Amino acid sequence: FAPWNDPDETPLIRFKGVTKRFGGFTAIDDLTLDIYAREFFALLGPSGCGKTTLMRMLAGFENATEGTIELSGQNIAPIPPNKRAVNMMFQSYALFPHLSVWENIAFGLKRESTDKEAISARVEEMLRLTRLTKFAKRKPHQISGGQRQRVALARSLAKAPKLLLLDEPLGALDKKLREETQFELMDIQEKTGTTFVIVTHDQEEAMTVASRVAVMDEGRLVQVDTPDVIYEAPNSVYVADFIGDVNIIEGHATPEGERARIDWAEGQPPIWGTPRGAAGTGSGAGKVAFAIRPEKVAIAKEKPEGRRNLLEGQVIDIAYLGNSSTYHVKIADGRIFKAQTANTRRLVNRDITWEDRVWLSFTETAGVILEG
Ligand code: ATP
Repeated sequence: FAPWNDPDETPLIRFKGVTKRFGGFTAIDDLTLDIYAREFFALLGPSGCGKTTLMRMLAGFENATEGTIELSGQNIAPIPPNKRAVNMMFQSYALFPHLSVWENIAFGLKRESTDKEAISARVEEMLRLTRLTKFAKRKPHQISGGQRQRVALARSLAKAPKLLLLDEPLGALDKKLREETQFELMDIQEKTGTTFVIVTHDQEEAMTVASRVAVMDEGRLVQVDTPDVIYEAPNSVYVADFIGDVNIIEGHATPEGERARIDWAEGQPPIWGTPRGAAGTGSGAGKVAFAIRPEKVAIAKEKPEGRRNLLEGQVIDIAYLGNSSTYHVKIADGRIFKAQTANTRRLVNRDITWEDRVWLSFTETAGVILEG
């Protein structure tokens, strides 16, 4: 199911040339983006890139300086925040400490309706959805952090918004609970069919929960795509570097038929890549950056025969990560290249150790050639 590929589907949210300035400072710069109903969409980027500003414009706390934002085809600028079918869940949860879980969830409903039975039915439904039924009578300080997070979620969803904005929703949870809660969030999003837009600076979290990810830099969108495309085919060094671990070799590329030869250091054999590889970017000529993930790089003590992309170096560091180990290898020019191996067969690859001379190798299609 990929609504963003369906030309007939009207996007739930449409940003058209949106710019937001604070005085002379441009926080969002001519941004155009469609988000579709039922998507789980993640905004990812370093601090200050404009993620929160985008959310606040959707929620109605800020207006665009230029451009328009549409919700279901309607310009939202004149619509006050409480009439937008948009809700925002804050990192702090903002629960009422003196109200029970039940009353916290009912709070927004009671302001809109006097139908006690309908409110009660909806609260019960939200309690079931978030597995909080048996905590209904407790106060926020009598439940765990994870449960508080679910109360905040239940309360945000009670009025059945079309769009739920989640600003670092799992930021207060520890790593393990955070990972469990990610799956719960995905499950609840799917069950309710609500469109979720999440802001996070945790790239693993964005990749786990989201159907599509937007990578932002200084108020602009750099790449918007599914997590696998963002990872396998980043469109720039910025994205390659921001998402996951990557080796970058800058050099000069010369196309030779289907492939490109990249000269990167005096006296070193060239690297070979496919210009249009997975990324579909880069002309494969001139100044380029070759990007390759550490897990796509093989490491061996013996020189592998018949390989084209070979780098010789010395192990200077080994990071043992449990399911894998990452070798930091100093190659020509003093550069550090990383190779990651899965620790599957034996616990640790004890053949290769510090100071060893090693050979790194990779295939021509394993990396991407990006504009240098
Ligand atoms: P973080 O991950 O740290 O929350 P962010 O990507 O959400 O960062 P924003 O909060 O959207 O970033 O801010 C984007 C830029 O706009 C920042 O440089 C910030 O200082 C600036 N900014 C945000 N709100 C205002 C404001 N009300 N007045 C002036 N500048 C602002």
